[in-house]
Amino acid sequence: MANLKLFLFDLDGTLVTTGGAGLKALTQTFEKVYGVKNVLENFSCSGKTDPAIFRELAIHHMHKNLSPLEMAHLQQTYLRYLSIHVRYSKDYHVLPGVERFLEYLIVRGDILLGLGTGNLERGARIKLSRSNLSPYLPIGGFGSDSEDRSLILKAGHRKAEVRCGRKIMDDSVFIIGDTPLDIEAARKAGFKSVAVGTGEYSYDELKVYDPDYFLTDLTKGPAFLRELENIYPAVEV
Ligand SMILES: [Mg+2]
Repeated sequence: MANLKLFLFDLDGTLVTTGGAGLKALTQTFEKVYGVKNVLENFSCSGKTDPAIFRELAIHHMHKNLSPLEMAHLQQTYLRYLSIHVRYSKDYHVLPGVERFLEYLIVRGDILLGLGTGNLERGARIKLSRSNLSPYLPIGGFGSDSEDRSLILKAGHRKAEVRCGRKIMDDSVFIIGDTPLDIEAARKAGFKSVAVGTGEYSYDELKVYDPDYFLTDLTKGPAFLRELENIYPAVEV
């Protein structure tokens, strides 16, 4: 029986760009719920999980720890705004090579696909709703599973094993993401990292974090897989 592999994809900057829909929804949420304007000024959300972003923003602007009820209310408000901003975003697009790579992978019987993202699960599905990518990625780890990115990835791994009823070795789990936090979380979880240069970080910036593999974009995905199967220790494909 072939050795199973699991590919977990980050979402923003890896699969799609929403044209800032998430940031607009966050800004509107804090203004609506707490009357705080421009909540994201001097704050980077890059690679952070949604619950961590909500918590850090509340501490930063209001010196306040959110109660579970307040967190739930913020998240519901955010998801409502998010679906509107995703629907009307002028700059929403699927990133280069993504659809072709997923099509290439999905016909294989030995590779499972899923998401590994800091977005809330419902938020991730909303962000993918303008693409046709969701059916390729039926499972995953999400910001709703944990605030810690490495635990999100482990949750995705666990769900994949439950779904297929088989063990997937840690070194057969590949985390595809566009930020240093994706690389670090993959390492912490004991998985392989595949950095992609389609987000806001360049190759040189990502290289510092020593990913196992680097792809300029996912048009290089099929070549990466072929190299992987030839057991070449490719760093740049
Ligand atoms: Mg990302």
